[in-house]
Amino acid sequence: MTQTAPTGSDSAESAVVDAEARFASLDPRTGEVVGHHPVHTAEDVRAAVLAARSAAVGWAELGFDGRRARLDAWRKLLVRRLDEFQALISSETGKSADDARTELTLVIDHVHWATRNASRVLGKRRVSPGMLMYNHAASLEYKPLGVVGVIGPWNYPAFTPMGSIAYALAAGNAVVFKPSEFTPGVGEFMARTFGEAAAEHAGVFQVVTGFGETGAALCQAGVDKVAFTGSTPTGKKVMAACAESLTPVLVECGGKDALIVADDADVKAAAAAAVWGGIFNAGQSCAGVERVYVAEPVADEFIELVTKQAAKLRPGGEPNASFGPITMPRQVEVIQAHVQDALDRGGRAVVGGLDSIRPPYVEPIVLVDVPEDSRAVTEETFGPTLVITRVPDADEGVRLANALRYGLGGSVFSRTRGEELARKMHCGMVSVNAVLAFAAMPGLPFGGIGDSGFGRIHGDDGLREFATPQAVTRLRFRALLNPMTYDRGTRTVRHVVRLARLLYGR
Ligand code: NDP
Repeated sequence: MTQTAPTGSDSAESAVVDAEARFASLDPRTGEVVGHHPVHTAEDVRAAVLAARSAAVGWAELGFDGRRARLDAWRKLLVRRLDEFQALISSETGKSADDARTELTLVIDHVHWATRNASRVLGKRRVSPGMLMYNHAASLEYKPLGVVGVIGPWNYPAFTPMGSIAYALAAGNAVVFKPSEFTPGVGEFMARTFGEAAAEHAGVFQVVTGFGETGAALCQAGVDKVAFTGSTPTGKKVMAACAESLTPVLVECGGKDALIVADDADVKAAAAAAVWGGIFNAGQSCAGVERVYVAEPVADEFIELVTKQAAKLRPGGEPNASFGPITMPRQVEVIQAHVQDALDRGGRAVVGGLDSIRPPYVEPIVLVDVPEDSRAVTEETFGPTLVITRVPDADEGVRLANALRYGLGGSVFSRTRGEELARKMHCGMVSVNAVLAFAAMPGLPFGGIGDSGFGRIHGDDGLREFATPQAVTRLRFRALLNPMTYDRGTRTVRHVVRLARLLYGR
């Protein structure tokens, strides 16, 4: 007997639960079953968190060096099994082999970086006690939180959650990971390989699979932090659920990233970057280029170059296809609605159009003359589409880029004003004369502002997200003047105030 996935969830319409309480992940290119996975209940999730909590003790005791040895072994195993991992990602998301390989090289780089840098960022260090407390020693250490719940999306099913998983593990936490219902096999592969590389600590990284309900259960299972990556509406639900138990959250949500082309830009490079940034992975990238603001003096040349390049690209399931299908069937309706709205309101398609939408594939669509308040400009489309808008100059482009509540990433093309314009953009990350360069640099924090969420993965800040600072002081000798005791005389306080005036009042 089968039943459909729980109603009211964001689950795929096609998802069914079999008699053994399992659901299937499907290859979006063919509809074939890739694998079957358990639908974990709230009770299962609580059990996984309990098991992770007991495994966390030994993992924390290993210290930075002990954990580094295990995480290095895991990284090397992932490198050895890269082809197998790539094939699994391609079959659950449909993405091309090269897109999946690119994702995996970033995954491996992040595991390496987090492992190498955890001790420097989080390890115990001395802090100056300051002038008034000169008779104390002070130190700061970042301790693990305990168990971190990670909830991930399907578009980068390995790269995106690894930005939390590797950093949380390196910081000394255990992890319970709930992958998207579209990519459960990828999540299981990650936990299985970790278990092979660090057999005696396998319980430190657990995976629970299922639909939105399983993710919701993870938020209420007593974890010490939830690291969520997904859409803004689900991010709000996660935050509300976590509020009940004051569980801290890291929320990495969607974006509507803009690329600004100034009149002094290398127009050829900007056009190539816009096409790749908007269309790779079928446009299903949180920080992909969705909007372009191009300065009028170079707009004709830019639009012509983009049109030529985008028109050549073809989606498909074959190895030499430019990009793959739309992974989540209902996203096709969103893409269609945005294109329809843009065309209805005076926009023009210079590449493709409504008939480019042939599920599960969508060919490149490039739109111009689209009003700023149309859905194609204000909402995340998550398809191989670009909206190009002419602006008098780059400053006006920045103003329009900043007009939305989303603020994940952005890019600026300019020969002379790149960094100046970048600083004016309201978002968490900007690449100058490139697209998405920040995502490939493990040392930089990744995350956004506004509707794109808060908190950071990657870099020093990403490690600190999964640790709690503990400040410790130690009295070294008795001070001549000690105002923090009832034994003090009034002269003591007067002396201390005089000292403070002398030191800080001038
Ligand atoms: P969703 O928000 O639909 O789902 C994200 C995850 O949350 C999935 O594992 C999902 O499970 C789970 N979930 C669903 N409902 C709940 C709930 N009530 N409580 C807890 N967890 C729940 O996002 P998508 O998977 O569709 O991913 C695409 C989105 O992710 C886009 O908006 C994209 O921009 C964003 N994203 C952001 C990134 C960033 O770093 N800022 C990076 C990559 C993507 P299930 O799938 O089983 O429903």
